[in-house]
Amino acid sequence: MKITKVAFLDRDGTINVEKGYITTPAEIELYPNAARAVRLLNDAGYAVFGISNQSGIARGYFNLNDLAAINARVMELLTAENAELKEIFFCPHHPHGAVPEFTVACECRKPGTGMAKAAMIKYNIEMEEGIVVGDKICDVEFGRNLGARTALVETGYGNGEWEKIRAGGLPRPDVYAPSLWEAARLLLNGTGKK
Ligand SMILES: [Mg+2]
Ligand SMILES: [Zn+2]
Repeated sequence: MKITKVAFLDRDGTINVEKGYITTPAEIELYPNAARAVRLLNDAGYAVFGISNQSGIARGYFNLNDLAAINARVMELLTAENAELKEIFFCPHHPHGAVPEFTVACECRKPGTGMAKAAMIKYNIEMEEGIVVGDKICDVEFGRNLGARTALVETGYGNGEWEKIRAGGLPRPDVYAPSLWEAARLLLNGTGKK
């Protein structure tokens, strides 16, 4: 069966507490109601994915094995609350990294849409209703590049990013919400519908 409803959620600052570069699974701490938000999206028929820029790999702060363990911890905590992320897609690149292998101007680093496109191919998705939630302007741009409805959350870098957006000249999200939970609720209620 084709998937038509899809939610792409940022990881750090959106699902789990922003702590700078996370390098160990023990640092993963879900925001209150983050799992409930994912479950709400699941129940509304959305396939939910994590979509995460992880330039710490290109910068040499941690490696792919570390990241696999960290992402597994995020999935484990969500699964424990019956919330289903199908997969966490990540971009390990950065144009100015320290590890040559990952130092590249790629098409997957948000606001590029490479990670979403990979998810759509792998999971046979034809997006008709798309939702993107994140705490950075690049998340909003990523969502707009996909033709999805977007929410910026106040958690993580969201507050500061909202101030920049309010100053003008930047794309505005459809919804600005205190957390992933409120963002999911508002987007599902059609608030901010284009
Ligand atoms: Mg983030
Ligand atoms: Zn990339």
